[in-house]
Amino acid sequence: MICEFCGKEDSVQIVLSCGYTVCLEHVNNLGDTFQCIICKNHVINKQALFNMNKNRSILSKLQFTNYLNTVKEKCF
Ligand SMILES: [Zn+2]
Ligand SMILES: [Zn+2]
Repeated sequence: MICEFCGKEDSVQIVLSCGYTVCLEHVNNLGDTFQCIICKNHVINKQALFNMNKNRSILSKLQFTNYLNTVKEKCF
């Protein structure tokens, strides 16, 4: 996937309610509710966004990866 905000390809990306794909880091830097950074004509609730099925699976995978990294760090 390519972020439609910055054009990055290899970042962790989530889907906005309007269908655009952006890096998780852009959304993470914003408040609980924010104006869509792509179309700027609707407001997004971060909690609702993270609860979308697709984003939930991305986030749970991410948490799993973080968990594995933590385990790895402890071993070395
Ligand atoms: Zn981006
Ligand atoms: Zn939008």
